[in-house]
Amino acid sequence: LVTRMREFGTTIFAEMSALAVRTGAVNLGQGFPDTDGPPEMLEAAAAALRAGRNQYPPGPGIPELRAAIAAHQRRFWALDYDPDGEVLVTAGATEAIAAAVLALCEPGAEVVCFEPYYDSYAAGIALAGGVRRPVTLRPGPDGRYGFDPDELRAAFGPRTRLVLLNSPHNPTGKVFDRDELTLIASLCQEYDVPVVTDEVYEHLVFTDAAAPHIPLATLPGMRDRTLRVSSAGKTFSCTGWKVGWVSGPAPLVSAVTRVKQFLTYVNGAPLQPAVAVALGLGDDYYAAFTADLQAKRDLLAAGLTDAGFTVQRSEGTYFITVDIAPVGGHDGIDFCRALPTAAGVVAVPTQVFYDHVEAGRRLVRFAFCKRPEILREAATRLRHAT
Ligand code: PMP
Ligand code: GLN
Repeated sequence: LVTRMREFGTTIFAEMSALAVRTGAVNLGQGFPDTDGPPEMLEAAAAALRAGRNQYPPGPGIPELRAAIAAHQRRFWALDYDPDGEVLVTAGATEAIAAAVLALCEPGAEVVCFEPYYDSYAAGIALAGGVRRPVTLRPGPDGRYGFDPDELRAAFGPRTRLVLLNSPHNPTGKVFDRDELTLIASLCQEYDVPVVTDEVYEHLVFTDAAAPHIPLATLPGMRDRTLRVSSAGKTFSCTGWKVGWVSGPAPLVSAVTRVKQFLTYVNGAPLQPAVAVALGLGDDYYAAFTADLQAKRDLLAAGLTDAGFTVQRSEGTYFITVDIAPVGGHDGIDFCRALPTAAGVVAVPTQVFYDHVEAGRRLVRFAFCKRPEILREAATRLRHAT
């Protein structure tokens, strides 16, 4: 049987979570929190289920959620979107990205992105018959990941149809600063291409980051060529709900809607009103959420340093990356396959997110979106094993 996408196999997240279940190891691989989101949101979902909000919601999402999405972007980023026509609710950020790529790329279209890239980017581009043009992020002397501006310029060309930007960035924890974003924006304008910005970690930027979160759409000339993607999964600790959204100028959003209607049609009826409630929570919720994850990052970073790894700087997200060379590692895949048995911990080899595999050969990602006792246990196990 010859099937499409066969070279993609099983995602690394599924492989590593299965390994964790099989070995009983502490799972710092797949990025999902081990605590629940805000109780107001959970109650609202339960109430919606009981109230019978269990049939197909409207195609673009329920009006109250689209209004809450627009209000949230006005409140945090001073970005104005019309809930009718400029906001679309999707089955997680994953569907928003896939639908956007399928809507904007014809076969042969080149998509500029940064590597390591979130794995669904490569899959979405492949489904569209596009070609990825990855620009490599490398850790600098200060541990912060950066890129060579000339490499970025060289990735653009006459066949460029789309840019895919993820900031805060999974798996590196990099937060793109204003200078970096300005260069990306100027190239998008020079080549007249739209951008999909994956901002699922928009509320996970730590106080010592090089920059606050700056949505690319807020830069001059960018609002009308940017599709902003986000999701409830990260901000409200409900990764299994798969309620995401995309916002942008009406012509781009309607192009995505056309594709989305044939992928899932609609999703998450009783969860949509609950996410609307969550988006409207007070500033104290958001501040506590960020502070909680920053403390968890600090805890895991200290543990990984004690265990002997070279720990790269994580400015945001759920993730921190390390170089395994100081503990005798040569290859992240071999290292991560052996780690559950050797140390009772699961991590993710970031080389699987690179086209230029050498650049990520020895880099491994750990998730810190776990309870402090779990992070301490993982650190103890790693210290004894390395
Ligand atoms: N983009 C990035 C960078 C992610 O890390 C994730 C999930 N962890 C997603 C997209 C997918 O989000 P969702 O679960 O809402 O589909
Ligand atoms: N985004 C999560 C991560 O990076 C995993 C999502 C998934 O398993 N598809 O770990």
